[in-house]
Amino acid sequence: AKAAGKKRWRRFRPELHSRLVARHELQAGMDTAIADHAFALRYQPIVQVDDTALAGFEALIRWPHARRGMVPPDQFITLAEESGHIMPLGAWVLDHAAREISRWQRAHPRTPPLRASVNVSARQFRDPGLLDVVRRTLRSSGLAPGSLVLELTESVLMHGDVQIGTTMRALKDLGVSIAIDDFGTGFSSLSYLREFPIDLLKVDKTFIDDITTDRQQVALVEGIVRIAEVLGLQVVAEGIENEDQRALLADMGCRYGQGFLFARPLTAHQAEDFLHRAAPA
Ligand code: C2E
Ligand code: CA
Ligand code: CA
Ligand code: CA
Repeated sequence: AKAAGKKRWRRFRPELHSRLVARHELQAGMDTAIADHAFALRYQPIVQVDDTALAGFEALIRWPHARRGMVPPDQFITLAEESGHIMPLGAWVLDHAAREISRWQRAHPRTPPLRASVNVSARQFRDPGLLDVVRRTLRSSGLAPGSLVLELTESVLMHGDVQIGTTMRALKDLGVSIAIDDFGTGFSSLSYLREFPIDLLKVDKTFIDDITTDRQQVALVEGIVRIAEVLGLQVVAEGIENEDQRALLADMGCRYGQGFLFARPLTAHQAEDFLHRAAPA
């Protein structure tokens, strides 16, 4: 073991080193950042694919870091999951997103009811405290339970834990909706679509990317849309970047979409502006 340890450190690799430093720095700063509410949310509009009418927003976390600039979630969510920081961090995201979106809704009463979509990581979903966090969030934000969507990845379902189904049904009883994020990228079987009370599928961007040039991708997405129809699930296509993709998805009967074509993730201020412009006069 000693020899192996020596061997590992024989060659100094600067890029690996700086990644480790970054990781350590972010990990070390997380406690304070959580205590100081030093995170920020961006809000990406979710629209109807056929007429681009606003349907809701997905909250996406950022970490404005003194030395590292705006750190994207890919660089710290896994760390937060490993350390357990994801529980207070996830609770903050839920609470903050629900408050803001519910405030916009009240400020623009003519806007049709908006969905507030929040990402929930696997560890956070398995935490027994989640239900209380959701109940408290709904109470304090005034957000209609039917407006809240929790986005889970397939990895949550793959563990075959009975607790997962119980938590989902308790959320359904509260009136909250459940979405499967990055749908199609996991390795789980489709049977979970019947097994769990799922409301919505978010088709991963990788399926949408080549949809205008690759007939197999078209067939796959069309298949997902048909399956969803039969099972009574709504579909959101992720990562729509151009008009051809939008038109094709609209033809397939895919109802909702999200992507840079419609809007990038926006600051709260920009999002409220977007909503204001989208609202019927
Ligand atoms: P996701 O949930 O699949 O979110 C969609 C990601 O795709 C976002 O990246 C968004 O900015 C990006 N995106 C949206 N439309 C387009 C497009 O048209 N083109 C391209 N190229 N990208 C697009 P972001 O904000 O960096 O988030 C990355 C991931 O981090 C999210 O993927 C989600 O898994 C995770 N994440 C973000 N916020 C949270 C959070 O509050 N909690 C947890 N647990 N995870 C989060
Ligand atoms: Ca998501
Ligand atoms: Ca996604
Ligand atoms: Ca994704």
